[in-house]
Amino acid sequence: MKISNFSVKQLTVLASIFMAATFVICYLTFRYFFTYDLAVERAFNQQQEEVHRVKTLLKLQKNELAKNLMDYASWDEIADYIAGENDDLLQDSLNDHTFSALEVSGIFIFDPHVSLVWGRLYDYVKHKELSYAPIRYKFGALLADSLRSPTDKLTSVVKFLVLDGQSHLMATSRVCNSEGVDCDKGFMMMIKPVGQEFSGTLRQATGLAVEIKTKDEFESFDTLTENVSVIEKLDFQNDSTVFVEIHHSVKIPDFITWRELSAVLAFAVFMFGFNLALAHIIVRPVKRVCSALDSLISGNASTLTEQDSFISYEMRDFVYRINEVFNQLEAKQKELEWLALHDALTKVGNRRSLQQYWDALVEQCGERHISLLLIDIDYFKPFNDHYGHIEGDHVLQQVALCLEQAKTQCDKFVARFGGEEFCVVLSSQAKIENQQEAEWLRAAIVELQISHQYSPIADCITVSSGVADCALQPLEELQDIFLVADSALYQAKDLGRNQCVVHSL
Ligand code: GH3
Ligand code: MG
Ligand code: MG
Repeated sequence: MKISNFSVKQLTVLASIFMAATFVICYLTFRYFFTYDLAVERAFNQQQEEVHRVKTLLKLQKNELAKNLMDYASWDEIADYIAGENDDLLQDSLNDHTFSALEVSGIFIFDPHVSLVWGRLYDYVKHKELSYAPIRYKFGALLADSLRSPTDKLTSVVKFLVLDGQSHLMATSRVCNSEGVDCDKGFMMMIKPVGQEFSGTLRQATGLAVEIKTKDEFESFDTLTENVSVIEKLDFQNDSTVFVEIHHSVKIPDFITWRELSAVLAFAVFMFGFNLALAHIIVRPVKRVCSALDSLISGNASTLTEQDSFISYEMRDFVYRINEVFNQLEAKQKELEWLALHDALTKVGNRRSLQQYWDALVEQCGERHISLLLIDIDYFKPFNDHYGHIEGDHVLQQVALCLEQAKTQCDKFVARFGGEEFCVVLSSQAKIENQQEAEWLRAAIVELQISHQYSPIADCITVSSGVADCALQPLEELQDIFLVADSALYQAKDLGRNQCVVHSL
């Protein structure tokens, strides 16, 4: 299928589809390589900032627990208590209030051999004793990091721990003297719940939906969307046990939204329609020219007169030129039509129009009287010879005009029959006074008083005429009627010229 076989309408539709599709592709490409990449990068950076904020808060929480623990563990009283020398501690500093003041749920004190000296798991919110049976035999493992820590310096280790299906922070350290340098007195451990309440605190502090989940609660990384980040936390055995799920407030933007896509598509459709309309407007003059040419071919003259209605100056110019061509063709056609039926020199009818006129009259046979006159200028050759051809032409024009304008009581048709001979057809409802009519014509020519010094019969141009009186029966062929008129003319010439002879059929 060749492109040149398509119609302008089809080409326009194809071009419009192509343009609309190109626009959509360009838009999406631009978006992908420029704006979308930047937007994703910006959103990702903001999400990392949110993660960083949560991490900071978790770190603060750990630091606070570590600080609380170290404050306690550097008491001489604790060391004395481990050594069995001070029992007041339980009353004064390890009561229910201590748990709620430190916001911890577990405090455990061990001797230097990691034997539990005192321990309690207590829900200070619900005022409920809890069992620490699940960790009873894991104390060694829980304190492993503190066991490896130096004895001349107070250090603490904070890890996450899942206890009773709940997430907790667990801080351990050696017990030192008040100066914090003699740290072989025993070990201490504090456990703090970091479940839903802590999630609420994080949410308040960061404005983000943060969920702290245990390994059992956490589904899998595969189910997470790109707008959720997870911080994995290790327990005392370096296993991932606690997962902090951060649901970001800043979302990774969609490549394109429905709203945007609708707008782009709407614009593409608009462009499609606009192109079609534009092409239609541009092609309209060509179509009009085609239909005008069609009517010209089928013989009806046509012009594109509405050139001002076209919007581009090129098209107006195009239509203007086509109009010019049409007008010229029309003028030429009229001229040709006129020439086909008239004598160019004298402007009266020619033989063809004479025949047409005669045929039309014959159709009315029986209704009208008809006469045919042959009029010949007398001694025209001598006139031409002496006055010249141009002057002779001028005489022919004057005689023709005079014959048309001469007085008559009939309908009259004048034609130039050839050379200096004219043919006049008279028709009338009433009987024609042929002699009178021919005389009026002859006298009118004489009245012109065109000087002819070389005519033997007069000093001006004269004519002789032969009349064929057809009366109501012009049924003969025109040629035969001519013969009758011609013989009458000859007779007039023979009789001395400047006169009229009438012959009836
Ligand atoms: P007659 O009285 O017997 O008619 O004499 P005539 O000289 O008029 O007749 P003839 O037939 O001998 O001459 C006709 C002349 O008409 C010859 C020619 O010079 C002239 N003639 C014919 N056609 C034209 C024309 O178109 N223009 C001019 N100027 N002269 C023409
Ligand atoms: Mg003649
Ligand atoms: Mg003559």
